[in-house]
Amino acid sequence: MSVAAILKEKGADVATVTGDVTLFDIAQLLSDKQIGAVVIVDAQGRLEGIVSERDLVKSIVAYGPEALNEPAKNHMTRKVVTCSRSDTVAELMASMTVGRFRHLPVVEGGKLVGIVSIGDIVKRRIAEAEMEADAMRDYIASG
Ligand code: AMP
Repeated sequence: MSVAAILKEKGADVATVTGDVTLFDIAQLLSDKQIGAVVIVDAQGRLEGIVSERDLVKSIVAYGPEALNEPAKNHMTRKVVTCSRSDTVAELMASMTVGRFRHLPVVEGGKLVGIVSIGDIVKRRIAEAEMEADAMRDYIASG
């Protein structure tokens, strides 16, 4: 399965904020939207970084609760690994395993066109496994 197929099902919606937004506002956004990461963009919408719930935990432990008043740009991961619409789920899983992260923004022609989380991948893998099991059961029952 490709990234394009996943995006067709889940949509192209990506939660983005600019780097001057505070970590508290990001925590609020993650909680409201029930997501694990937000992509940081500049005024033109170009990708600048990513902040996940793990960054919030790390920053609070390192600097105390006052870290929540700090702008995201001081705490975001700047070197963001991205994927493209033509990548496969297997490639995404490899990328997440090697990079030890659970979110991959999808970039096409320099533009942010979606995001895939490990939750999206697990959901599709379970659906695929169930379809295979059903097909196998039908095959055995028909013989
Ligand atoms: P996550 O597992 O996605 O919560 O992220 C774990 C750590 O990796 C955090 O420090 C994130 O900022 C960072 N991170 C998340 N996604 C990416 C990505 N696609 N590229 C680089 N770093 C990332």
